[in-house]
Amino acid sequence: MSYNFRKIVKPLLSWYDKNGRSLPWREEPTPYHVWVSEIMLQQTRVEAVREYYKRFLEALPRVEDLANASEDEILKLWEGLGYYNRVRNMQLAAKTVVKEYDGKIPADYEVLLTLKGIGNYTAGAISSIAYGKQVPAVDGNVLRVMKRLSGSYDDISKDKVKKDMERELREVVPKRAGAFNQAVMDLGAMICIPNGEPLCDKCPLKKFCEARKHGIQNELPIKAKKKPRKIEEKTILILECDGNIAVRKRAAKGLLAGLWEFPSVEGKMSKKELEKVFSEEGWQVEISEMGESIHIFSHIEWHMTGFRVKLKEQIRKEEYTWVSVSELKEKYAIPTAFQAYTKQIL
Ligand code: SF4
Repeated sequence: MSYNFRKIVKPLLSWYDKNGRSLPWREEPTPYHVWVSEIMLQQTRVEAVREYYKRFLEALPRVEDLANASEDEILKLWEGLGYYNRVRNMQLAAKTVVKEYDGKIPADYEVLLTLKGIGNYTAGAISSIAYGKQVPAVDGNVLRVMKRLSGSYDDISKDKVKKDMERELREVVPKRAGAFNQAVMDLGAMICIPNGEPLCDKCPLKKFCEARKHGIQNELPIKAKKKPRKIEEKTILILECDGNIAVRKRAAKGLLAGLWEFPSVEGKMSKKELEKVFSEEGWQVEISEMGESIHIFSHIEWHMTGFRVKLKEQIRKEEYTWVSVSELKEKYAIPTAFQAYTKQIL
């Protein structure tokens, strides 16, 4: 028998009115503010997003500003948040909003879905929080809470399970749609938490919770395991000459597309091996170790070994741009993947 989500609406809203989180983007939930915050919050923790959100809106306070910003500026503002296509898509969508909707972000869920980078969850969040439309916003957190409530063993990594949940919730989202969606988000973040035991004793919905009733809250939700990630070994070279550092732009497509990076070679090399390569090519160098570091992407892991290579003269290669440390800091968006090394030079 299916679970009746209608009964959770009232207790959830009264809990939210007293316990909802106070977050910068909730102070003035315009469509643009909701949109920027939701895109930032995908795959990133709330605490980490606060500063980025503030800085982004100071630099680009209106959708028109985002539409007209340079790619380097938006990437710099996003530096460290990862998944850079999110901000690129947001800019494409901003251009459409300016061109086709006179700068006004559409209120309609279906129209929002036609904008680049806006999926069901973000469309639901903008439409409900900023415009009060009665639509749900379902992401992994919401699914976790709902599957525990209903005591369901459905696999939440399946698209169909998500779609079914959207359909079920659409029936029950109340007039205070934005508050309802944010209440579920908050319950998922504060009480019905992902990693570790949910705080059922403090939960306003404990009376209605099938998982708690059957003592299976720690088993749910079910999420099929992903394929193991591919591991790539890399040797990262911080080439340095007279206070300048060599960087190069990554390809326009693929992982970290179009971002700046330090030169690297495939595979793990030792200091001795590197010294040999440079000396065979006639370069006088002083090499020091910068340590190992791992960066995890969704499908790939980079296992990196870094070296600082001091040169007497710059290696002139078409792909290299030599920049001063302060330029690197202010203008060039170097992905977080290289953080272990960036930290040592900036
Ligand atoms: S009672 Fe426990 S498992 Fe059920 S919704 Fe509340 S926190 Fe989650």
